Amino acid sequence: MKNDTFSDISVAEAIHQEDQYGAHNYHPLPVVLSRGEGPFVWDVEGKRYYDFLSAYSAVNQGHCHPRIIGALTTQAQELTLVSRAFHSDKLGLCEKYLCDLFGYDKSLMMNTGAEAVETAIKLARKWGYDKKGIPEGKSVILFAERNFHGRTSTIISASTDPLARTGFGPYMPGIEVIPYNDLPALEKAVANPNVCAYIVEPIQGEAGVYVPDEGYLKATEQLCRAHNVLFIADEIQTGLARTGKMLACDYEDVHPDVLILGKALSGGAYPVSVVLADNGIMEVFTPGSHGSTYGGNPIACAVTMEALQVLIDEKLAENALRLGQLFRDRMTSLTNRCGLAKSVRGKGLLNALLINDDEESETAWNICVALKENGLLAKPTHGNIIRFAPPLIISEEQLMECCDIIEQTLEKF
Ligand code: PLP
Repeated sequence: MKNDTFSDISVAEAIHQEDQYGAHNYHPLPVVLSRGEGPFVWDVEGKRYYDFLSAYSAVNQGHCHPRIIGALTTQAQELTLVSRAFHSDKLGLCEKYLCDLFGYDKSLMMNTGAEAVETAIKLARKWGYDKKGIPEGKSVILFAERNFHGRTSTIISASTDPLARTGFGPYMPGIEVIPYNDLPALEKAVANPNVCAYIVEPIQGEAGVYVPDEGYLKATEQLCRAHNVLFIADEIQTGLARTGKMLACDYEDVHPDVLILGKALSGGAYPVSVVLADNGIMEVFTPGSHGSTYGGNPIACAVTMEALQVLIDEKLAENALRLGQLFRDRMTSLTNRCGLAKSVRGKGLLNALLINDDEESETAWNICVALKENGLLAKPTHGNIIRFAPPLIISEEQLMECCDIIEQTLEKF
């Protein structure tokens, strides 16, 4: 445990400053955090909470993991950034590490998740023109309804969420949205010879943890291959041990043509994302056709290798698999006896509690406020769904304590 040195800003002051000087593009719970360690975060008054959001699954390895922070600070004292006009001693090492671990020929490092998705979109389009022979300007990328892939203007052009999309047009052309978990719809869509790729989340996280039917990913891979369409998996949220396997695609032994990772790639210590693909696809990028000043910088590389090795060494996928089952068992028995929650769904430690069918309801928000009072932080994904995604280093005893908190909060609510 760290010592108890709390921040000297008050809750009211911190919230007021954000409200006054920050754009209102988020609606946070009224809690002001100043430190974190493992599955815990502390507010400015020293109150401890279990973090059940994990920075949207970026902190799978737990807050301030000593090995990751060690890699960050060591590298920060050596070399932080190199112009990509020159080589660095860390980039190739990290690229090889990523390729070996995930089974691809090439990797392309970026910073945020949205940038990696943008990279995959550009990659798919160029592959469509150079390799598939799609007439210039005609390429189409398929996306799924209720998707979440980030906030750029191209990505929100594929969104079906009015909140993410409305008011930000005109939208990027060359996008077709099909229903999620609907193989006949996919089969029809991939028959269009101008389709270059299908970009999909193996489980739709932001939408509220929608798990597709068993076999959907395998059949998707097969349909895409049969029609020479790239199958692109956005595992930014589902990847890196969160769902109980290193990748959610591993459940169906699926190897996407293009794999997108972010978030937990750095364990929350630094913005790092990556796109992985084989030579036949990645070679469409040539010098000058794509890039990023910070992409693949030495700190990102050092942090990424350590963060991934922590997942492996600490067997965090195995922990997520085992504890996720225990969590859903407890929550299922809760939904059976407590009228306030309808059902629980998810895989590994990416789970959601469905409170009711009314997306406009404030019940889920109010439950999250009550959970906060009881020492557990979670946030609704929509008005009626609460996502529960603790750091994967959480122990069974800690998870059981959290289940007690959730049960008692809902039963008293
Ligand atoms: N893709 C998925 C599946 C995500 O869940 C997210 C973020 O929640 C993103 C992309 C965007 O990542 P970032 O916020 O780092 O741009």
